[in-house]
Amino acid sequence: MSVLVRIAPSPTGFLHVGNIRAALMNWLFARHEGGRFLLRLDDTDRERSSEEFAKAIERDLLWLGLNWDMTFRQSGRLARYGAALEQLKKAGRAYPCFETQDELALKRKSQLARGLPPVYDRAALSLSRDDIARKTAAGQKPHWRFRLDDTAAWDDLVQGRKEFRPGALSDPVLVREDGVPLYTFASVVDDADAGVSHVIRGEDHVANTAVQIALWRVLDAPVPAFAHLPLITLSSGEELSKRLGSMSVAGLRDDLGVEPLAVASLLARLGTSEPIEPAAGMQELINRFDFRKIGRAPPKFDTSELMRLNARILHHVSFAEAAPRLQALGLAQLDEAFWNAVRPNLHILSEVKDWWRIAKEKSAPVIEDAGFTARAAALLPPEPWNETTWHGWTEAVKKDSGRKGKELFMPLRLALTGRADGPEMKALLPLIGPARAKARLAGETA
Ligand code: GLU
Repeated sequence: MSVLVRIAPSPTGFLHVGNIRAALMNWLFARHEGGRFLLRLDDTDRERSSEEFAKAIERDLLWLGLNWDMTFRQSGRLARYGAALEQLKKAGRAYPCFETQDELALKRKSQLARGLPPVYDRAALSLSRDDIARKTAAGQKPHWRFRLDDTAAWDDLVQGRKEFRPGALSDPVLVREDGVPLYTFASVVDDADAGVSHVIRGEDHVANTAVQIALWRVLDAPVPAFAHLPLITLSSGEELSKRLGSMSVAGLRDDLGVEPLAVASLLARLGTSEPIEPAAGMQELINRFDFRKIGRAPPKFDTSELMRLNARILHHVSFAEAAPRLQALGLAQLDEAFWNAVRPNLHILSEVKDWWRIAKEKSAPVIEDAGFTARAAALLPPEPWNETTWHGWTEAVKKDSGRKGKELFMPLRLALTGRADGPEMKALLPLIGPARAKARLAGETA
């Protein structure tokens, strides 16, 4: 069977760690199987959908390395959904309903008050032809529901066996009064027309699947396989939805400055039997993809875990890979020696700017003992400076002051960099150079 999968975000917001995980799993599976990956934009809600979000979704997917083979938008297929509705009407499975939102809300309320599940009571099924004709003549527009008579059962690739009895779910609305098709329906028409082989999405869609399987059957299309992924929770215990802003892909990239591979490494392995380790690249994640590794418990997303992975990934980025990004940060003069000196100390790439400023521009010293740093300044050796300079110099300062260990090194680091930690001083000192070093040891900002 040739694999065709899709993701179907609505362009009504930014991609976040929840839906990007579904995107990643679809993409990894497609690439693992040599199949195709489709991007569909579910944009039938014209009020809430925007071009800006559509562009952001594409940008964020590409940033993560998730390229797609085909794309389309639901808004371009309204005529097709109309034809599919006719097909369902002919099959006797679509029926018109005239209840208003308020009436439906009232029904639900009274069912709940009586301890009943708020399932649609199918009152509209008992409307006669005359009733319908009268309402239509009076200008009332119906919405259309799907008569759901089927037991739905499937072997979920993640959840195992799933079964839904008829009557457990409301007959879903297919098309609204204003003619706009709803997701449950349009999605099946699209998946059927495209020949989607596997639907991989969040666990929140399990009940939709029960309905949608029946729709696939009535539309006479092969029912795909399903994999429902447990929903990610935040380690703080908060629901993801409350923190969507900070957990958006754009937020991770632009505010936290994380590497795309760190996001992919974490999301591909979170909640699976694989250890959470940095991947060498996307190919490694593709090679190791297997539905059987995905657990059923909701995985916890922890930002500090992401940052730890990020640092480890950054420490392997070569100068050649980093160079264009350094240029974009305004650091075109930064050379390979500098990159190698500061790289082991970076948590996020943009920190390289701080070290550039400290080494090459201005830094305010922190002086604990002015007498000590002044004497140390006098002992600085003549040029040329290289990686051995720090050792020779600090040996001399040690002899002169009788200090050793932290007592000796920390005041020098604080004076030279203004910070208590950072890259190795033997690499940093020659980059700072004698003029700035002398001035800082004397307490000047230089
Ligand atoms: N537009 C739907 C969503 O974002 C798509 C779900 C699906 O994968 O079918 O939830």
